[in-house]
Amino acid sequence: MAKRCFVTKDKIEEIKKEIPTPFHIYDEKGIRENAAKVKEAFSWNPGFREYYAVKANPNPFLINILREYGCGLDCSSLTELMLSKELGVTGEMIMFSSNDTPAEEFKYAAEVGATINLDDITHIEFLENAIGYIPKRMSVRYNPGGVYSVSNGIMDNPGDAKYGMTKEQLFDALKLLNKKGVEEFGLHSFLVSNTVTNDYYPALAKTLFELAVEIKDKLGIKLSFINLSGGVGIPYEPDKEPNDILVIGDGVHKVYDEILVPNGMDNVSIYTEMGRFMMGPYGGLVTEAIHEKHTYKEYIGVDACAVNLMRPAMYGAYHHITVLGKEDAPLDHTYDVTGSLCENNDKFAIDRKLPKIDVGDILFIHDAGAHGFSMGYNYNGKLKSAEVLLKEDGSYKLIRNAETPQDYFATLKGLGIVEGLFR
Ligand SMILES: *Cc1c(COP(=O)(O)O)cnc(C)c1O
Repeated sequence: MAKRCFVTKDKIEEIKKEIPTPFHIYDEKGIRENAAKVKEAFSWNPGFREYYAVKANPNPFLINILREYGCGLDCSSLTELMLSKELGVTGEMIMFSSNDTPAEEFKYAAEVGATINLDDITHIEFLENAIGYIPKRMSVRYNPGGVYSVSNGIMDNPGDAKYGMTKEQLFDALKLLNKKGVEEFGLHSFLVSNTVTNDYYPALAKTLFELAVEIKDKLGIKLSFINLSGGVGIPYEPDKEPNDILVIGDGVHKVYDEILVPNGMDNVSIYTEMGRFMMGPYGGLVTEAIHEKHTYKEYIGVDACAVNLMRPAMYGAYHHITVLGKEDAPLDHTYDVTGSLCENNDKFAIDRKLPKIDVGDILFIHDAGAHGFSMGYNYNGKLKSAEVLLKEDGSYKLIRNAETPQDYFATLKGLGIVEGLFR
């Protein structure tokens, strides 16, 4: 089965005349349709908010599209907080879900009024020392340990994850925060990544809702919000069925009515912090084949590399590839598609069945909208690519300049040894 590109070859040829490959391109129409559906899926919950996980793709133009659908922002670092503030997102519209948090980041988060989600019980004292008080609205992150199974073999190992508190710590933390005058409490948990099943959120919701009832019964604390965090996945492989967010929203609604409502908690706000699901499918990495090499294997060398999209190198992740203009050609060649890093894991595909690729062909690497550009780095002195928005009306807009050598060398500027680079 084929995955379809949201942009035509002709359009890419047009863009390429102005913006050289490689570049990331994003689909405004797709982003909007999906964001509207997310909003609809949870419209049964009056307090619902999606806090878009900025780390997935921090492009401010894309963030502003999501804001039109009521999204807040989930930040995890100083620079993400700074970006949010600059965009005019402050206060309860920011969730600060970080871990191993530096004091100055807590300070900045408190200054902009973000809701702070504590990763550990020791962070209560750390936060108090950092900012001089405990905010009235606080969230705590739960890690149930062990193995968490959802359905059809989808599971993960929270017991191995560095995030969150044990159940005992969580109860102690809530007690302590209560004593320190906190008035609004939230519960957060992120147990499985990239779940391609409609069952994950409902299963997680059940776990957290039952815990919320226990918290109310044992501590007399009624939670204001429950944050299901991220983890709703996308089908990177073309034969996988995508999640249906409407079914997921209904599933959460059902357990809400079964567990929270009968226990007098019918006004708990549901939050999500999706990143991948909001952006992943609506971005592609566009790259040109610049070499072919025949040794012990067949290689196609492209002008992008792992610096532009790290997931295949880092996790062995599958990203579907379409050769533009050869969508219907037979997949009668087997290639490794490589970037130029001096690392043998710099391959976008290994032993992939593809049509015959010629130098000059344009490859569209799918599902690069989340954890794509944002994971970029500068190994081998490689530079980050431009980002382009394909607008709803079919026109396009440059939404991030490609990094230049000047940007790369900027941290040496003024130190007196390579000043010639800046003249
Ligand atoms: C990464 C992350 C998210 C987003 O996860 P996705 O799988 O991209 O939806 C949300 N919350 C926290 C705390 C995260 O670390």
